[in-house]
Amino acid sequence: MNNKYDFLIVGAGLYGSTFAYEATKRGKKCLVVDKRNHIAGNIYNENIEGINVHTYGAHIFHTSSRRIWDYVNSFVEFNRYTNSPIANYKGDLYNLPFNMNTFYQLWKVKTPDDARSKIEEQISSHIKKAPRNLEEQALSLVGGDIYYKLIKGYTEKQWGRKATELPAFIIKRLPIRFTFDNNYFNDNYQGIPIGGYNKIIEKMLAGIDVELNTNYIHNRPTLDNIAKNVVFTGMIDEFYDYRFGALEYRSLKFEHEILDMPNYQGNAVVNYTDSETPFTRIIEHKHFEFGNQDKTIITREYPLEWTKRNEPYYPVNDEKNDKLFKRYKELSRKEQKVIFGGRLADYKYYDMHHVVGLALKKIAEVFKEKESLDII
Ligand code: FAD
Ligand code: UDP
Repeated sequence: MNNKYDFLIVGAGLYGSTFAYEATKRGKKCLVVDKRNHIAGNIYNENIEGINVHTYGAHIFHTSSRRIWDYVNSFVEFNRYTNSPIANYKGDLYNLPFNMNTFYQLWKVKTPDDARSKIEEQISSHIKKAPRNLEEQALSLVGGDIYYKLIKGYTEKQWGRKATELPAFIIKRLPIRFTFDNNYFNDNYQGIPIGGYNKIIEKMLAGIDVELNTNYIHNRPTLDNIAKNVVFTGMIDEFYDYRFGALEYRSLKFEHEILDMPNYQGNAVVNYTDSETPFTRIIEHKHFEFGNQDKTIITREYPLEWTKRNEPYYPVNDEKNDKLFKRYKELSRKEQKVIFGGRLADYKYYDMHHVVGLALKKIAEVFKEKESLDII
């Protein structure tokens, strides 16, 4: 045993990097390893043609916590980007999230009262009892027109499952508003780091030992031997060699394209909500930072079933998987020197602000400090 490090941190994503930064600040020696060839996990940006490309899908930082907003702004300045995706359903365009603009585009209703009556009428023809799945939840919230045009096709492509087999909570992420407000989020603070997300992680990891192209699972005995404690942000089922079976994830294929034109779609995010188009959305990266380069870069996002050979982007938090996760969680509670955290180890559909908040909470717990952080 050669405890050169206090913490071996597996994963140079937002959770691992926040933890490493805070532990280092408290005098601890950390080694961060990542199996990828770069830091920053899924918030990684590649600069191509002067444009910060969101390599692993569109990332918009949003939070209602002043504390978390101030924290991330202490690493980098954020711009005023507000996410306002457009939905393309069979060639017709609609504003998202569902708001007065969308209701006007669908039904030509012009006032909130008329929109509410229209939605009431739409909902009344569907089941009224407590929704048991995403389809019932959506129909009881917004009715058939919105569900069939803007939700069902996108959702079933995204998750590779019938909407009747998906948990209702997924759709509760989307606001419904009776104002002409296309802001996708209800949070008080939102933006994109000026110069890209890597800046945050580079600052967090400055001066900390980092080893890339290093898979913890393949080098476990050696790596365990050099640190007193491990912070694991990879897949919890893989950590335990899938002993109770594999958790299900949803994967993605990103098809990036450089186009010789300044502006392809006029918006950062356009969702394709029909079931026939094989991708869910097209991202045009320059619009996240109001770029005016001569060229543009777009990314088509194709949902994929996860296998052990591709990336686990989304946990599938249905009943079956949550039950299996609980068994792994029980095992993890018995670990003396391993801390689990982040989207993969907690098997939760966390956003970035959750991950930062949870890492700060964990630090407070480990270092026995008082922390009253509201992570939502
Ligand atoms: P990750 O970023 O996944 O980092 C984990 C790291 O661990 C990875 O780098 C991985 O390579 C490494 N690793 C795993 N296993 C091992 C191993 N065995 N050995 C070594 N290294 C290992 N959040 C928002 O707030 N806003 C958004 O708009 C948003 N959009 C998203 C869009 C997409 C397509 C996706 C997939 C996620 C999105 N998120 C968004 C969520 C956001 O990406 C996560 O909340 C956050 O990045 C999670 O950080 P993490 O450190 O937990 O995980
Ligand atoms: N969703 C939808 N239509 C859309 C966008 C989203 O039905 O045009 C549903 C879909 O089920 C998706 C969920 O809302 O999985 C959450 O969407 P969000 O944009 O928050 O997903 P993420 O960016 O995390 O992929």
